[in-house]
Amino acid sequence: MPHPLLDPRRLAVLHALGLDTAWVPREALDPAELAALLPAAPGVPARRGGGPGPGARGGVEARGTELPPDQAPAASAAAVPAASPAASPAASPAAPPVPSPPRADAARPVAQGTPAPMSEQRLQQVRALDWEPLRALTHECRACKLGSMRHRAVFGVGHPQARVMVVGEAPGAEEDRLGEPFVGAAGKLLDNMLRACGLSRAGEDPARTVYIANVIKCRPPGNRNPEPDEIAQCLPILQRQIELVRPRLLLALGRFAAQALTGSAEPIGRLRQRAWDWHGTPLVVSYHPAYLLRTPQDKAKAWADLCLAQDLLEGRGH
Ligand code: SF4
Repeated sequence: MPHPLLDPRRLAVLHALGLDTAWVPREALDPAELAALLPAAPGVPARRGGGPGPGARGGVEARGTELPPDQAPAASAAAVPAASPAASPAASPAAPPVPSPPRADAARPVAQGTPAPMSEQRLQQVRALDWEPLRALTHECRACKLGSMRHRAVFGVGHPQARVMVVGEAPGAEEDRLGEPFVGAAGKLLDNMLRACGLSRAGEDPARTVYIANVIKCRPPGNRNPEPDEIAQCLPILQRQIELVRPRLLLALGRFAAQALTGSAEPIGRLRQRAWDWHGTPLVVSYHPAYLLRTPQDKAKAWADLCLAQDLLEGRGH
């Protein structure tokens, strides 16, 4: 049985992210192969960051094209404090240890400390709506100033009973023009990442087709950040979508999606690599594909986040 780090699906995620590096556990390597590997990778320390040695959790070596040292640790368990008390022994070595799920205080879609609490009035308005009335309400919505600036509201795409629901931030120019979330280069990267996990945005099988929706349905002009009142008015639509889909896993991509769903105002770097609980639904936070295109050195972190998502979806640890 191959080591979990050599799991083809995990390697496929790496490949989809454009990281043609195979992270291989020391113990999975033949001693001769390891000896041959180390001299071939000058500058790559055998023990990253003074981490554990061979056989210890987190003792990994890079094979193939090397990442710069400042990028590599995110893909290795050495990037996470080895003494993390909440590291789950049941977790696959491919997924870095994560803190204990902050279930008690993060199980609410209305964020504690978020600048824009959800509008209760809007929540009551949309709570009883099924898919088509909800879609119609969204396309006719003028509840915030973005409604008069958009070309098209971007409601969402995918399977209405998807096992995995992806939550993005707000439409950009292309999304506004086409009425679909995650198009263009960022959408392509997301599709590749999903494909590596055996998922897509179009299909008949709810186990293999995601549902994708944004926190904000209308494009903020000039791609500016959504404002608190806009989030407050729009978030109830997303909440209703989640209630209708009832996914087994939520994946929040980008700061606004992460903060809206976790209820935390912390930066995304502190929200990721945790198994959040959104009203009983596991929630994983990661970077937005558009950010990953601008900051490719963080793709390795997104890989770790997708591994965590896969672990949660398949009931492994955490
Ligand atoms: S962004 Fe949301 S709340 Fe604002 S007009 Fe569009 S659909 Fe309505």
